[in-house]
Amino acid sequence: MPEPVRCDVCGKLFSSSHVSSHKRLAHAKDKLGGSTPERGMKTILEIYDSLSAENKKRVLAQLASLEREPS
Ligand SMILES: [Zn+2]
Repeated sequence: MPEPVRCDVCGKLFSSSHVSSHKRLAHAKDKLGGSTPERGMKTILEIYDSLSAENKKRVLAQLASLEREPS
């Protein structure tokens, strides 16, 4: 009988063979910046900071065009 393993993201119990696939499927979107807007923004800024000057301009242009889209 497999040992139950607690998912460190949501705290639910899964069999040890299932927990990794559960985390991949249920929490994959959490990896980019975590679950709070603040952490997401920090991640975006860190990625932005790592870009070259030319790519920073491209990102800013894309953000500006997103801003003009009607929501
Ligand atoms: Zn989970």
